[in-house]
Amino acid sequence: YSGKSGPQLLGDLARKKLVKDFKALPVIIKESSSVYDAVCTLFLEDVGTLYVSNDQGHLAGVVSRKDLLRAMLGKQKIEDIPVNIIMSRMPNIVVCFLEDSIYEVAKKLINNQIDSIPVVREVKAGDRQAYEIIGRVTKTTVTKAFVEIAGDQPV
Ligand code: ADP
Repeated sequence: YSGKSGPQLLGDLARKKLVKDFKALPVIIKESSSVYDAVCTLFLEDVGTLYVSNDQGHLAGVVSRKDLLRAMLGKQKIEDIPVNIIMSRMPNIVVCFLEDSIYEVAKKLINNQIDSIPVVREVKAGDRQAYEIIGRVTKTTVTKAFVEIAGDQPV
């Protein structure tokens, strides 16, 4: 007997679920894409958040459903607005890494009041640090991990 309480054991299990085992595929658009293209991609790929890449293919920003809705309220034609005008941008993007636990990422989702966090790998871009986008963790990902943890336990 480990001497650990139920919540402690649950905490241990949650910390063992890693991003690399649960991450989903990222949906990425170029920063030169229009808001119109972004809305089409959102529907076609059935996601809530798109990641935006720069010319080098590195993470430049994030566009959410509400970012797109806000852009559609304006007078300008959405075919003529590039997403890089309306996206949330680096270095203010909250990211996570393959070896992070789902628990840590869940806390980031809550603390930053966001639905989605890109999974990235650090790469060198000249003398600067940049991120390659390799996955996506969302509230759905966290829910899946939770169901798996609960399912692991005998009732
Ligand atoms: P929605 O805006 O559709 O409710 P979110 O709650 O995820 O979706 O996004 C809220 C705001 O936070 C948006 O402006 C979005 O661009 C931004 N955002 C979303 N994900 C991230 C992230 N990982 N890092 C930084 N900002 C983000």
